[in-house]
Amino acid sequence: MPTKAEKDHYAKLARLGCILCRQQGITDTDTPVEIHHVRRYGGKRNTAPAIPLCAYHHRLGNTSYHSLGAKGFTSYWGISPEELIEKTNDLLQKTS
Ligand SMILES: [Zn+2]
Ligand SMILES: [Zn+2]
Repeated sequence: MPTKAEKDHYAKLARLGCILCRQQGITDTDTPVEIHHVRRYGGKRNTAPAIPLCAYHHRLGNTSYHSLGAKGFTSYWGISPEELIEKTNDLLQKTS
């Protein structure tokens, strides 16, 4: 079960919209956002940094994160999950 703090955090992420669409200059999308956890260093899922991605960029499209994997995603889109985490954190600071 997510804690209230986690729920609040995810709600803020969802309001940002898909971080990759935003990176592509697409900001008028009303596609529902899904939360992707970027797992690093064998960390636990619920402590992993989370980024907002639309369903297409998250898992549906041929070029989605879960279709390509982290390495393929980075080379296809030219931006790594770590960079998306940084951008997400920047935006969160600006909007909160
Ligand atoms: Zn997207
Ligand atoms: Zn995911």
